[in-house]
Amino acid sequence: MLRVYLDNNASTPVLPEVFEAMRPYYLERFGNPSSIHHYGQHARSAVERARTSVGSLLNARPAEIIFTSGGTEADNLGIFGLVRNGDHVITSTIEHSAVMNTCKRLEQMGLEVTYVPVNGRGEVEPEEVRKAIRSHTRLISIMMANNETGVIQPVAEIGKIALEADVFFHTDAVQAAGKVPIDVQKIQCDALSISGHKIHAPQGTGALFLKKGTLIQPLLYGGNHERQRRAGTENLPGIVGLGTAAEISRKWLEHNGPAEMAAMRDRIENSILESVDETGANGGGAPRVPNTSSIYFDHVEGEALVIALDLKGLSVSSGAACSSGAIEPSHVLLAMGLSHERARGSLRLSLGKQTTKDEIDFAIQIIPETVARLREISPVYQKIHA
Ligand code: PLP
Repeated sequence: MLRVYLDNNASTPVLPEVFEAMRPYYLERFGNPSSIHHYGQHARSAVERARTSVGSLLNARPAEIIFTSGGTEADNLGIFGLVRNGDHVITSTIEHSAVMNTCKRLEQMGLEVTYVPVNGRGEVEPEEVRKAIRSHTRLISIMMANNETGVIQPVAEIGKIALEADVFFHTDAVQAAGKVPIDVQKIQCDALSISGHKIHAPQGTGALFLKKGTLIQPLLYGGNHERQRRAGTENLPGIVGLGTAAEISRKWLEHNGPAEMAAMRDRIENSILESVDETGANGGGAPRVPNTSSIYFDHVEGEALVIALDLKGLSVSSGAACSSGAIEPSHVLLAMGLSHERARGSLRLSLGKQTTKDEIDFAIQIIPETVARLREISPVYQKIHA
């Protein structure tokens, strides 16, 4: 059976070139980068090469890159590491749980957090951020691209506001990295998170950009790794993989990769919107990363659609997640003003660099017929259309 994977916002496959680059660091060049002998020196230079590659992807200096165990740790470090008791923090209602639950924890610890809303297109309005600033605001954390809708947030405007107010600005760029150009100088952020497994590097790798001169409180204590900002022996093969994936992403961005990917995404989205009635693209009117499409189907249960599509060989995700044993509609879609039904009836399609035109054709063929089949057996749909 043909299997097609359009859930790259959940995780991407490690590209063969990335895997090949990592292989020697498991088998022959396995040294500890802190060791002074031959093996250690090889390992150290590989880590530093990867640091330069990740820095280049973000237009950052190598010394501004801290390797972490992924996007979640980078977000935790960029938030916990920059705030103190008594501070006020500003974030948004559409953040990933890696930021959202970190902010909830700050509230439990007695800090104040303001969650700025988004408009109907899923965008944070910079003016809302400006209005939320108080005298004791220390940090603004607003994501660069949303994981569910792909909507790109106005981070450069928010960075300007933060700078004028002398407030730290962290952005979770996990879903933006490798899809759109990122320039930390233009964003004027103090901290920015990325994750390896969203850019074809392995799971459990990531990095935090931290602007030169910014003091951060570490999350982990131990050795003097990562200039005392993140203790623990480096994940050498993982870091090599992240560096290689960053290089591949940089070239892909320079060589028309985003336009080609957006064309494939638009083809699938437009085709579905044209051939299925009572649908719409969530965040479709806003600037988006080129790989993501979130579509609602009225009178369809998203989870049922995901399962039905999976049985036919297409893996995608829905606008709902299992939380405390119940299926809850996505907080992102609700924050944009979608009804519970529409949020639960939404499907997220996300492309990767390995996605082919044939795979898109397959999805274009099976999604409309599967939606039609589910609506045929839906009493609600049948009643409305009787
Ligand atoms: N931030 C965003 C926007 C994400 O989409 C994700 C992963 O889905 C994360 C953070 C967490 O990254 P990781 O899985 O590397 O911990």
